[in-house]
Amino acid sequence: MDNQYSARNRQPKKKSAARLLVFLVLVAAIITLAVFSLGQYTAVQALQNNLQELEDKLDRVEEEKNRLEKQYDELYEENEELREENKMMRSETIIEHGDRETKKVAITIDDGGSEAINNLTLDYLKEYNVRATLFPTGQNVESYPETWQRAVEEGHELGNHSYSHPFLSNLSEEQVHQELSGWQEAVEEAVGGSYHTPFFRPPYGDGFFSGQAHHRERLQPIVAEKGMFPVMWDVELVYALRHDTYSAARITEHVLNNARGGSIVLLHFTEADIEALPRIIEGLRERGLEPCSLRELLLAEPHH
Ligand SMILES: [Zn+2]
Repeated sequence: MDNQYSARNRQPKKKSAARLLVFLVLVAAIITLAVFSLGQYTAVQALQNNLQELEDKLDRVEEEKNRLEKQYDELYEENEELREENKMMRSETIIEHGDRETKKVAITIDDGGSEAINNLTLDYLKEYNVRATLFPTGQNVESYPETWQRAVEEGHELGNHSYSHPFLSNLSEEQVHQELSGWQEAVEEAVGGSYHTPFFRPPYGDGFFSGQAHHRERLQPIVAEKGMFPVMWDVELVYALRHDTYSAARITEHVLNNARGGSIVLLHFTEADIEALPRIIEGLRERGLEPCSLRELLLAEPHH
């Protein structure tokens, strides 16, 4: 009986030991699993961190790549512009117009002896959002430095038109040098820093007309030595309308009838020419032509 009792009694003891064992195994399993999961979790976390780091690095590489590409584009454009400039400086031909395939028409305005008209011109160009090439004489730059500083600030380019507007064919080489440098100094004084223009517009066109080859051979190397090339025109008014009424209406009509893609229009800072300027701009645009500066017409156009 005793035996039976204790046997009966021991059996539950055995059972509870087995349960404990199962329990322990389970706990061990859970702990193992937990440790393993934690390990996995940490590993995943580490991988994610690595991934993040790589992504950051990739972003930086991408940024660097974009920066270099932009720099390359800028240098390419600059280079293209310099190649064009160089080609024109060495060319024997006189530039009277640009590429006829384009829709661009360069607006050039010469002399600039009246401050009121100079400022009115800048107002019109601003209103119509046109960049033009202005050829003041050095003397007029000295007289109205604020006007020409404003012109540069508003995106126009200044071209060399000599210091005192002489007939260059009458001058010695030394005097021609002085005329060109005098203009340069006046402009640098006005804009308060160095200024480079590749464009030279001879006063009256003198020395550079076809038929003046012997003067041109003497003058052009001096202009080229100063880093410029002479730019004439294919549409002008002074000679064209000399037997005609010189009114804003007639000026507008003449320019619009004669300008085409690639044209270089020569205007002067005179009351009549500038009175005609808004209609000239509107009329060119109505004909699908775009008024612009010489740089935009003759050199590779910067995109920025
Ligand atoms: Zn002039």
